[in-house]
Amino acid sequence: MFDRFNRKINYLRISVTDRCNLRCVYCMPENGVPLLKHEEILNFDEIVDFTRIAVSKGVDKVRITGGEPLVRNGIVDLISMISSIDGIKDLAMTTNGIFLDKYAKDLVKAGLHRVNISLDTINPEEYKKVTRVGNIQKVFDGIQAAKKAGLNPIKINCVIQKSSLEPHAVEVAKYCNENNLQIRYIKEMDLEKGEFSVVQGGSGGDCGTCNRIRLTANGDIKPCLFSNLAYNVRDLGAENAINAAIENKPISGHVNHTSKFYNIGG
Ligand code: SAM
Ligand code: SF4
Repeated sequence: MFDRFNRKINYLRISVTDRCNLRCVYCMPENGVPLLKHEEILNFDEIVDFTRIAVSKGVDKVRITGGEPLVRNGIVDLISMISSIDGIKDLAMTTNGIFLDKYAKDLVKAGLHRVNISLDTINPEEYKKVTRVGNIQKVFDGIQAAKKAGLNPIKINCVIQKSSLEPHAVEVAKYCNENNLQIRYIKEMDLEKGEFSVVQGGSGGDCGTCNRIRLTANGDIKPCLFSNLAYNVRDLGAENAINAAIENKPISGHVNHTSKFYNIGG
């Protein structure tokens, strides 16, 4: 698939839930998160049907995200269903890692290739402050389980304010070095204010080479993280929705007043 600016679109990010077991300060309010009703959330068949169509049109890279993907019931089965689609070369997940200890082995068996794990600090108190409720030991256990299960490479997503030299980020980098993990620095962004930047060590944020479309938990296809544009697979049908998203993918984004990180998945 090529968009009207001749960008090849081969990367689909799927947010499988808007729920999360953490409440990171830059992502979700502590209380009163407006959540989708269960019937609004795509079922597995709808997600897989859409993915199959996207793959038939040239998508060969898929990332599962959330909310927190590992809180979606049956996530291992969903990974099996997606990994059995012919033509996906890279199947990855972005997770906070809290439940990886429990699921890493089964996820690999189900066909997941690799994970990005979010970790902004290695200090337990700081981690609790950033996530409001998280126990960092669960993440460390999750990282070890991911390694043992053979997920490779393992990347660590570290949110920074301005610079990768901030003390918490330097400590995370040292931990990554010692544990054979790759680090990516993500500057804290504000979708509504249109504050966005490139991901250091990753490919996000470079509009000229953007190869992504996103599917949200309620079936919106979003052609750009920083735009309100959305084409719903239930309203339009999967084929029409994906075509509309590709045809209307903007040259670059500005603001997104209709999504939050926790429902579009980053
Ligand atoms: N719950 C999973 C996790 O935390 O990895 C997946 C979803 S989360 C929304 C995906 C990524 O977005 C995480 O790496 C997180 O750090 C990042 N993120 C969340 N809010 C952000 C913000 N305001 N600015 C930049 N990155 C953000
Ligand atoms: Fe949850 Fe991920 Fe958002 Fe943190 S960044 S609140 S773990 S969705």
